[in-house]
Amino acid sequence: MDAERFLDQAVYPGTLAEIAEPDNLLLPGHDVPLGRFTVVRRLLPHRQRRMIGAWCFVDHFGPDDVTGRPGMQVPPHPHTGLQTVTWLVDGVIEHRDSLGSYQTIEPGQLNLMTSGHGIAHSEYTPTEHPAMMHGLQLWAALPEDARHDQARFEHHATMPLRRLDKATVTVIVGQFGPDRSPARVHSPLLGAEVRYADAAEHRLPVDPGFEHGVLIMSGAATVAGTDLAPGSLLYLGPGRGEIPVAVPGPARLFLLGGAPFDEPLVMWWNFVGRSHEEIVAAREDWMSGRRFGAVTGCTAGPLPAPAMPTVRLKARDRHGDTR
Ligand code: MN
Repeated sequence: MDAERFLDQAVYPGTLAEIAEPDNLLLPGHDVPLGRFTVVRRLLPHRQRRMIGAWCFVDHFGPDDVTGRPGMQVPPHPHTGLQTVTWLVDGVIEHRDSLGSYQTIEPGQLNLMTSGHGIAHSEYTPTEHPAMMHGLQLWAALPEDARHDQARFEHHATMPLRRLDKATVTVIVGQFGPDRSPARVHSPLLGAEVRYADAAEHRLPVDPGFEHGVLIMSGAATVAGTDLAPGSLLYLGPGRGEIPVAVPGPARLFLLGGAPFDEPLVMWWNFVGRSHEEIVAAREDWMSGRRFGAVTGCTAGPLPAPAMPTVRLKARDRHGDTR
């Protein structure tokens, strides 16, 4: 770094120089209604942190006893510019989309939907269902070179599993050690469930080029010195080759990771784009029945988009800054 640049950085911290990622940050989630009958804990995006790698949206739902209740009831709605990952610990969800896909997902399986330029889908707990519902829904932003592609849907009935010390690791997206998920993603990304049957203390090996997030689905854990309980997400900045984890008993963690995502995004409703105009166009296409197609086999009417805000939407980078 030359002297002039150093001086600029000192006078205008964080504007001219690269903004450093924080070492770690505990992000408390907040409750959000999803459809008419489900409340989820939203962990990303967060005011203090918008993304972890390309992961731009993290919802944790349950564990909820849905005996005698409808469970998840999300009518047809559109997506652009992202992939959705659905991962269940308990329960069953029926996915339908505008490609004609119909897929029931059960615990231990992966539904991966790639919206590309546009897709619509619905998600329903079937009438006959198990008592408990518990899972995650994640979004990964598609980079520029993939976001205009055709939509795609993948179901993976079994995922790579590995014993690591006292943990059982399921590799859902990306690579963990020698195991690689068959899921097709478009940026360096990791999504893995780490399950403990009993108390344990060890270090999870991770890619030092990635930033990471750890959330706890059940039980308790101390991760990189921070006590974690369900309802919060721990952000860990790049530069670490391992993450220390201690659990006092049975626990289920979810590890997210990815290379810091450099493209500024506009996220609004179910759309990820790059400009106000793109979001307006996606909304108008959805409301007038263009682009996204109809969700085959779903009798529920499509979800109307909310009105556009009165202010222009601005693209923001992963630090929340506009350019
Ligand atoms: Mn959706």
